[in-house]
Amino acid sequence: MFEDQNAKRTELSELGEFGLINHITKNVVINHPGTICGIGDDAAVFDAGGKQMLVTCDILAEGVHFDLTYTPLKHLGYKAAVVNISDIAAMNGTPKQILVGISVSNRFSVEAIDELYAGILLACERYKVDLAGGDTTSSRSGLFISITAIGEAEQGTVVYRNTAKENNLICVSGDLGGAYTGLLLLEREKKTFEANPDMQPELDGYDYALERQLKPEARMDIIRELKAAGVLPTAMIDISDGLASEILHICNDSKKGAVIYEEKLPIDTIVASIANEFGIEPAIAALNGGEDYELLFSVDMKDYDKVMAIPGITIIGHITDEASGVNLMSNSGSLIPIQAQGWNHYHDNNI
Ligand code: ADP
Ligand code: MG
Repeated sequence: MFEDQNAKRTELSELGEFGLINHITKNVVINHPGTICGIGDDAAVFDAGGKQMLVTCDILAEGVHFDLTYTPLKHLGYKAAVVNISDIAAMNGTPKQILVGISVSNRFSVEAIDELYAGILLACERYKVDLAGGDTTSSRSGLFISITAIGEAEQGTVVYRNTAKENNLICVSGDLGGAYTGLLLLEREKKTFEANPDMQPELDGYDYALERQLKPEARMDIIRELKAAGVLPTAMIDISDGLASEILHICNDSKKGAVIYEEKLPIDTIVASIANEFGIEPAIAALNGGEDYELLFSVDMKDYDKVMAIPGITIIGHITDEASGVNLMSNSGSLIPIQAQGWNHYHDNNI
């Protein structure tokens, strides 16, 4: 066996996802001058002779990223493509092609895989992306979907995470917390159904949150609007893990701090009422919920009027110096350090 029985064993849980990525990539060296940006952003950036090529990949694992008891396969296919397209958007690029790898157990029928692909192809059509290849294998259990998206950007227009500047305005597209509240609803219905299979789901009036969870969109429209307005963000990331986690990525990578104002967080009224129904502060859902796939970006102060004129963009704070840290100005006026998993800390402050 490869494993030395006497060797120290480190549990994956000691590192966590980001710790593991740092660990396995710490000795990676870049040899090709054409590799403009390797590990560490929403997508890798390659020199494509005049243009810049963007490449990103994400894996979705059954039971980890999706639960087929309440996720229709067509929605799953759509979402799997969209989350990758969103990573291209987050680099200020235009998606062009995707490659799709699937591992499927014999629990799935051909018709089920057809549904999955109907969703993937719908996303391709909507975002004008070509399905250009992939790979298919069997799996011992469950379904795995790995999608690679390829995009392009003009020279000098790629937007990274590590280039935010002090006094930049922090902007977010759309509204936050919806996907998380949608997940809470679906999980609740699943439990109710497991307890009593005759129960009909009670999801009327919750469409918006459910759609945010089951059918997210990549904000290519915002990328186009910013371009049309002549605004080039100074740094950008898409919100896959929650606003708190993403603003920390931008600030840590840019060696800056930030202040985000709780009162400015864009939260839909239905989403706020669902969060309250579950006993969760709407701001917590917005900060830590994840899967909204909105864009979080910083812009120079001179672009204030231009971004304010674009519907669906909210200015939620500004970039500060590194020593000031990354903080939330709460509605009650206290400054609370933002943490990636900020639940406990936030609650300790009794907001
Ligand atoms: P995102 O949330 O945008 O999908 P991730 O947190 O998954 O980004 O990844 C962060 C960075 O680490 C990216 O540049 C990604 O390409 C890289 N990365 C993730 N997993 C691996 C891996 N197993 N090997 C090499 N690089 C990885
Ligand atoms: Mg990833």
